[in-house]
Amino acid sequence: SARQVNIAIIGAGGVGKCFLSQLESLAARRQNQKLVLTYIATSKKAVYSDSYSPIALDSVVSTLSSSSQAPLALPKLVDYLAASGTKTVLVDNTSSQDIADAYPSFLRRGISIVTPNKKAFSGSYKLWQDIFAAKEEGGSLLYHEASCGAGLPVISTIKDLVETGDEVTKIEGVFSGTMSFLFNSFAPTSGSGGGKWSTEVAKAKELGYTEPDPRDDLNGLDVARKLTILARYAGLEVESPTSFPVQSLIPKQLESVASGDEFLARLPEFDAEMEEVKAEAQKEGKVVRFVGSIDVASKQVKVGLEKFDLSHPIAALKGSDNIISFYTKRYGSNPLIIQGAGAGGDVTAMGVTSDLLKVLAQL
Ligand code: NAD
Repeated sequence: SARQVNIAIIGAGGVGKCFLSQLESLAARRQNQKLVLTYIATSKKAVYSDSYSPIALDSVVSTLSSSSQAPLALPKLVDYLAASGTKTVLVDNTSSQDIADAYPSFLRRGISIVTPNKKAFSGSYKLWQDIFAAKEEGGSLLYHEASCGAGLPVISTIKDLVETGDEVTKIEGVFSGTMSFLFNSFAPTSGSGGGKWSTEVAKAKELGYTEPDPRDDLNGLDVARKLTILARYAGLEVESPTSFPVQSLIPKQLESVASGDEFLARLPEFDAEMEEVKAEAQKEGKVVRFVGSIDVASKQVKVGLEKFDLSHPIAALKGSDNIISFYTKRYGSNPLIIQGAGAGGDVTAMGVTSDLLKVLAQL
C-alpha cells in the first residue's frame, strides 16, 4: 500500500491559495505516496484534530474560513506534528519572522520544511547556522526555492554550481518585480515614453505590483534579503541584510510620513531628482536600473541604482521580470542567465510545489 506523508501548512494568502490548488492535483496524481493534510492555519484560524484526520483538499479554503479553532502556538505545533509518528512536511507560506525563528525546532524533530519565506535565510547569520545544524541533527529536508525569484530556479542553480565545484565570482541582477516594472516604464530603452517617477509609482501600486505601502518596496530591503541568501550560498558570511550598502529610493523627508497614501501624495515633490538621475544616464547613452550585486572575491554586496548600456540584458528587461546573472569560472565571461516572472501567486507556488516534490522523492 502507498506510504503516507503528512502535510502541514501555515499561510493561505496569495501564494498559499495557489499552492493549495497545486497540492490538490499533485495528491490526486501521486501513485506511491498518500499525501494527507493534517494541519492548516492562517494568523487567525486553524483546522486540525488530535487524531490527525485528513483535511479534504477540495474544500480546505472554506473549511478554514468557517473554522472556530485557533492556531497552535509554535512549540505546541512542533510537538503535535512530531507526535504523529508519520513523516511530515511543513509548508510555510507566510512571511513571518516568528515562524522562521522556529525552523530549527521543527527540523531537529525530523520535520522537513519547504517555503517561499525569506526571513529564515536572510535573518541573522546565527539563525542560518542554527537551521542547517538542526537539519543535520534531525535528518530532515529543507528547500526554499521561491525565497528568491519566485518560481525561477535561482537557489537550486547556485547550490548546483557550488556543489559541483564551480567557483561563483559574481552575481548581478534585478531581483524585484516592482523595481523592474518601475524602471522599465520610467526609463525605457526606447528613450521616450517614460512617465514621471511619481506617476509610475502610483501606476504600479494601482496595478497591484507594489506592497500596500510602496515604501516597503522602495526601501530596497526585500532585494537586500535575496542578496543575503545568495551571498551566503556563494560562501560569504553576510551578517544580515543591513550589513552592506542598500540604497533606499524613499526621499529622507518622506521616510516618516504616516501612511502610504500620504507618501504617494507628496512623492511628486521629488520627481526632479529622479529626472536628473535618468538624464545623467541618458547623456552616457545608458539607462538606470535598480540592481543587486555580489562580488565574491572582494566580498562586496550592494543594492542600488546603476547605469547600463542599452544592449545589456539588464537594460532590455520587460514588464516586471527578474533577471539573475551568475558569473563563474566555468561559464567564463558569458554568464549563466535566469530570467522571467519573479512574482505572482501561481509561479511562486510552483517553486514551493516543486520543492515539495524534491522532499517527497527522498522520504
Ligand atoms: P499574503 O500576505 O497574501 O499571505 C500570508 C498568509 O500567511 C496569510 O494567510 C496570513 O494569515 C498568514 N500568516 C502570516 N503570519 C502568520 C503567522 N504568524 N501564523 C500563521 N499564519 C500567518 O502573502 P503571500 O503573497 O501569499 O506571500 C507568502 C510568502 O511568499 C511570503 O513570504 C512572500 O515573501 C513570499 N513570496 C511571495 C511572492 C508573491 O508574488 N506573492 C513571490 C515570492 C515570494
